[in-house]
Amino acid sequence: MKTLAAYKAHLREIGKLNSALALLQWDQRTCLPPKGHEARAETIGKLAKIVFELGTADKLGRYLEKLEVEDGLSLEDRASVRVVGKDYRRHKAIPPSLFERFAVARSRSESAWEKARAASDFESFQPHLEEMVDFARRFAEYYGYKENPYDALIEGFEPGMTGREVRGVMAPLRERLVPFLKRLLAEGARPDTSFLRGSFSADRQRALSLRALEAMGYDFAAGRLDTAVHPFTSSTGPNDVRVTTRFVENDLLSSLYSSLHEGGHALYDQGISPELQWTGLDEGASFGIHESQSRLWENMIGRSLPFWTFFRPILTQVFPELSSPSADALWRAVNVVEPSLIRVEADEVTYNLHIMLRFELEDGLINGKIAVADLPDLWRDAMGRYLGVTPTDDASGVLQDVHWSAGLFGYFPSYMLGNLYAAQVFATLQEETPDLDARIARGDFALLRGWLQDRVHRFGKVYEPKELVKRVTGKEPDSAYFLSYITRKYSEVYRLAERG
Ligand code: ZN
Repeated sequence: MKTLAAYKAHLREIGKLNSALALLQWDQRTCLPPKGHEARAETIGKLAKIVFELGTADKLGRYLEKLEVEDGLSLEDRASVRVVGKDYRRHKAIPPSLFERFAVARSRSESAWEKARAASDFESFQPHLEEMVDFARRFAEYYGYKENPYDALIEGFEPGMTGREVRGVMAPLRERLVPFLKRLLAEGARPDTSFLRGSFSADRQRALSLRALEAMGYDFAAGRLDTAVHPFTSSTGPNDVRVTTRFVENDLLSSLYSSLHEGGHALYDQGISPELQWTGLDEGASFGIHESQSRLWENMIGRSLPFWTFFRPILTQVFPELSSPSADALWRAVNVVEPSLIRVEADEVTYNLHIMLRFELEDGLINGKIAVADLPDLWRDAMGRYLGVTPTDDASGVLQDVHWSAGLFGYFPSYMLGNLYAAQVFATLQEETPDLDARIARGDFALLRGWLQDRVHRFGKVYEPKELVKRVTGKEPDSAYFLSYITRKYSEVYRLAERG
């Protein structure tokens, strides 16, 4: 079919330019000399503009129109038309002049946020945030929605998900997590973490991260490890997927767990079927599904007792000063629960509470039920109710995340959904693999990695998140898996007496 061939050729062109863009951005965040940033920003801007033009070209619109009513397409081609068509319409929906004004306002807002956060001065940021909320509300109207303008925004991160559904999974989580956290802190035995204090050289931390990535089965012939201030993973296709981490001298766990986290993202990207490259399907199914893979490796595996049974000898080889704690003691120490003000430092139990707070606020903002001026107070109040801690300044409160300053509303739920999907997928994996713990305890991750690739990774964006979860686990996305994972694990870590 001529149209299909022309459509695919067009996508390949976009895909190759996107690969170049990804590489320029990777370089920008890892090793670009300081003086190179200005010219690099221009190069990236130019290339991004070309990609945008190709992605909204009338020619592409005509291909899509024909292919959308074509019966004989394969599963993958149909998925490609669905995904590319959706992006095309979203991009086309926003008048170019409005988008240009947004881009200018966003860049002002981002630098205002940086200054406001440094000075902990919400008032100076408030007018910019008001502007960003206003843009988001206008975009939502252009994108269109059935029930809630928030739905139009979340669609950009979690296709097929709505604000109502997010609220639906959050309610039982909040009901159970908040009292469980209180009980854990009041009645539980806090793990000893004193042996993790010390000074750990970057070289040896790097050696440890490399050992962890090797054990997971991250393919170093198709990737590399570098350092970045904010660790991330960058892919230009399954054969070039790069991870980054950062080394904090007095915090050994920070680099190890960010390597496991990014390693989880990287295995996903390395595992996407090569046939999907440059078809619009060569990415994770959604932000939430991608995050589920990183959280699964970081937490469900990396923070398990079997993992520490396997990894303790490697740790003591690299850091002989850590040879006294047992695997059990290490396992407990890496699972300490500490309600904190900062989301990115949150443990598994409290993390989702940070997300709930943000979701409730941004849903209110987009629906015009909350005024930007009231955010700092609302933030403090919710932190107190959910986590029992209250920020004394806005830098560690409402100003801590970059997302809203960049106009990203509807993004936060993906982090929570990632945790929930991870627990559900992991429960299925455990059910189907009775000797999973024994395998992890001897460092045999081949079956586990193969299972994830076969059931999740290889499909890329072929299935929407909810459908993928259902295919993998046989059930609709359900927060009960996460709740039972958390309560069971942390009752053990904190030695809580069983209660009926
Ligand atoms: Zn992540």
